[in-house]
Amino acid sequence: MTLGDILISEAEIAQVIPEIAAEIVEDYGDARLVLVGVMDGAVCFLADLMRALPRSVEMITVRAQSYEGREAGNVVIDLPPRERIEGRHVLIVEDIVDTGATAEMMVEEMAKLGAESVEICALLDKPSRRTREVDVVYAGFDVPDMFVVGYGLDYDGLYRNLRDVRELA
Ligand code: 5GP
Repeated sequence: MTLGDILISEAEIAQVIPEIAAEIVEDYGDARLVLVGVMDGAVCFLADLMRALPRSVEMITVRAQSYEGREAGNVVIDLPPRERIEGRHVLIVEDIVDTGATAEMMVEEMAKLGAESVEICALLDKPSRRTREVDVVYAGFDVPDMFVVGYGLDYDGLYRNLRDVRELA
C-alpha cells in the first residue's frame, strides 16, 4: 500500500470545521445537544468540531465495529446508557459515511434510546458507495470511491495521526 498525495489539506479541514459549526449553531440554537462521536475514526474531527462550537454541548463517544466485511453492513456498536441520550438532540459525528450502514444503525439506536432528534455530521462523505438511505445533513467534503487515511482515519491502525487526508492505494 502506498500513501498518495494530499487529497484534503490541513488548511481545508481547518476552514470547513468552523463553517459546519456555524450551521450547527444556527440550526440548534440553545437546544440540548449531545455530540456522539463514533470512535476511533472521528477522534480528530470530534475534538476540532466541539472546540469550534461557541456554546456548551454534551459529548459522548461510542465504538462502532464492522464484522464479516463492511459490505454485509454488520455493525456492532457499544451503546451509551439511556440517560445520556434521552430527551437530547443527538448529532452523530463520523469520520466518513461510506455505505451508510454505521450511520443508519446509529440513527436507529439513538431513536430507541429516546433521542429528541438525530442527525448525522461527517467530515467526509462517499455518496457513490451508499447502500443505505441516510441523510448526512452536515458534511465537510465529498470524496470519490477511493480508500482514504489520515485525520483520524486508519489503515490497519496506522495513519490516524496524519494532519491531512490522503489516498492509500
Ligand atoms: P459505513 O458504515 O458508512 O460503510 O462505513 C463507516 C466506517 O467505515 C467509517 O467510519 C470508517 O471507519 C470506515 N471507512 C469507510 N471508508 C473508509 C475509507 O476510505 N478509509 C478509511 N480509513 N476508513 C473508511
